[in-house]
Formats: sequence, C-alpha cells, structure tokens
Amino acid sequence: MAIYQYRCEQCGAFDVSRPIGTAAAAEVCAGCGGAAARVFGSPHLARTSRPLARALQAQEASADEPRVVRRAPSRESAAPPADPRHALLPRP
Ligand SMILES: [Zn+2]
Repeated sequence: MAIYQYRCEQCGAFDVSRPIGTAAAAEVCAGCGGAAARVFGSPHLARTSRPLARALQAQEASADEPRVVRRAPSRESAAPPADPRHALLPRP
C-alpha cells in the first residue's frame, strides 16, 4: 500500500491509501464530495541533524587529510581539564 496525496479546492489536502500504481488522477473529497486532484509532494526523507552532519564531515575530512601533529602540545596552551581526575592521568 502507498499513501497518495490529494488536494480539494475547498477542504484542503488529504491522503488516500491505495495499492502501489493504482492512484487515480482525482479522488472524491470526503468532506464536500467534490473532485480533488492528486498532488505530488516530496518523499519523507530523513534530514541529518546539524551536529551529526558536522561530525560526519570531520570524520570524512580526517580520512582524506588527517591533521599532522609534529610535537606534543605544551602544558600552558592546554585547557584545564573539565574533570579534576584528568589531572591525575600520566603526562608525556
Ligand atoms: Zn472537499
């Protein structure tokens, strides 16, 4: 079964469920009994959230152009750890 969209000029849009390939060009509106023309909308595609898209782009970029680190970061430039237990971890 597929869901087809129709639009009545007086009542607005509504959906009709029919077997695939059997949608008529027009349906009878359940509200007013008038003819409702079939409309074609966009399929229900999932949109990727912005944080996920950024993470996927970063992952893809790191596969092609990995950042090269030539020396260990200095202790002064490092941000203080958010968790105080991180200060107990061994340092290079
Ligand atoms: Zn109608």
